[in-house]
Parts: sequence; C-alpha cells; structure tokens
Amino acid sequence: MEHQRSSEEQSTVPDGISRKRLIIASNNAGKIREFKELLSPFGFEVISMRDAGFNEEIVEDGDTFEENAHIKARAVWEATKTPTIADDSGLEIDFLDGAPGVYSARYAGEGASDKERCQKVLDEMHGVARELRDARFVCSIYFIYAEDDEYSVRGEVGGYIGEKPKGKNGFGYDPIFMLNDDDSMATIDEEEKNKISHRANAFGQLSKIFEEKLNADK
Ligand code: IMP
Repeated sequence: MEHQRSSEEQSTVPDGISRKRLIIASNNAGKIREFKELLSPFGFEVISMRDAGFNEEIVEDGDTFEENAHIKARAVWEATKTPTIADDSGLEIDFLDGAPGVYSARYAGEGASDKERCQKVLDEMHGVARELRDARFVCSIYFIYAEDDEYSVRGEVGGYIGEKPKGKNGFGYDPIFMLNDDDSMATIDEEEKNKISHRANAFGQLSKIFEEKLNADK
C-alpha cells in the first residue's frame, strides 16, 4: 500500500517510526493550516492524511467527540505508523440533552447550510427561558505519538443560545452562540475567537504535551 511505503521512506529513527512527520487525520485545508501554525514551533512536518497516502473512508460512529477523534487517529495510525492527530468538535446544548453534539455537522441533514442548521436549533429552542439555554462548543483532540503513547485533550467554551442570529464572522453555529448579552461568537473577530475558542483551549493543552515530548526527546 502506498501509505505504508511512504512512511518507511521517511523513517528517521531505528525503530522505523518517523518522529518528524505528523499527520493530521483530515483533508480540511483550514484545519490543516491551523494545526500547521500551532505545530510549527515544534519542528514537525505537518501533512494531511491524503498527502500521507491515506484515502480510506473513516466511519465516525462514536457517541462522543472523544470517541470520534480516537477512531480517526487510530485508523490513520494503523495504516501509517506515523504520529497522528485527529480532532472532532461541535456544539452541545443542555436543554437538548447535549444535541447537536457529534451530529453538529449534519444536524439539519446532509447538504444543509450553516444557516439551516442554526435555524433548526433556534426553532427547537423557541420560547425556552434564558436560564435553560446554556451551551458549549467542544473540541476533542486525540494524538497518537507511538503505540501506547497516546493523548486525549478536550477544550470547551461556554455560552448560551441566542434568540436570533447575531454577527457575520466565523462559521457554523457561531451566530447563535452568545458569549454574553452583547457578543456572539460571530460578532468578535477571528483573532479574538482564536484566543478563547474551544479549539484554542484544546490546542493549549496539546502544546504542553508537545513541549514535554520535545524535552524528553532531547
Ligand atoms: P468537525 O469537527 O469539523 O466535524 O465540525 C463539526 C461541526 O461542529 C461543524 O460543521 C460546525 O457545525 C460545528 N462547529 C465546530 N466548531 C465550531 C466553531 O468554532 N463555530 C461554530 N460551529 C462549530
């Protein structure tokens, strides 16, 4: 298989496992770019799973963000034996028992727009009192560095579901996710979001793990 060969070709240590190449278990260009930025200080060559020769469909059938991130990372690790990072994220609303949760991307059906997904949530939350509208964005990241050397981190940001969309920035559920009575996740700019978001929080935890790895490998 092509991906196995490519992993062997760039082996850099005696056990045959590359320490320098790091695969992001995604083909989403935006996600790869974010991870590249985060990981650039740590000296890894960050590549997408397609660039690593992995083209299989991964069935994300976990019940939690953690399980889905684990499923993706494990599938790519098994095929490549190269350090792999996978993430899974979404919105949890208390009043909806955690929905849309792991179904965040397809909550209004395959092919629906962000606007339609937001509208579905607003309809389900119609008339619900403010104190029952609490919600959070969650980002779970699973990192496999070597067999039995694996890490799971979870970042969250809390807020509540507004009564109507507000703001034009961001993506997904940002316009209906209120951080306070004035700002939604779509009224703040990208720089601000990148400081407080669930992803930023999970990245921060991952950075600490990378620093430890780097120091341990010296
Ligand atoms: P995934 O982790 O790329 O599968 O994203 C799952 C879905 O969660 C996205 O399609 C969005 O609908 C939602 N989501 C994840 N992160 C955010 C965010 O930062 N803002 C708004 N929606 C998000």
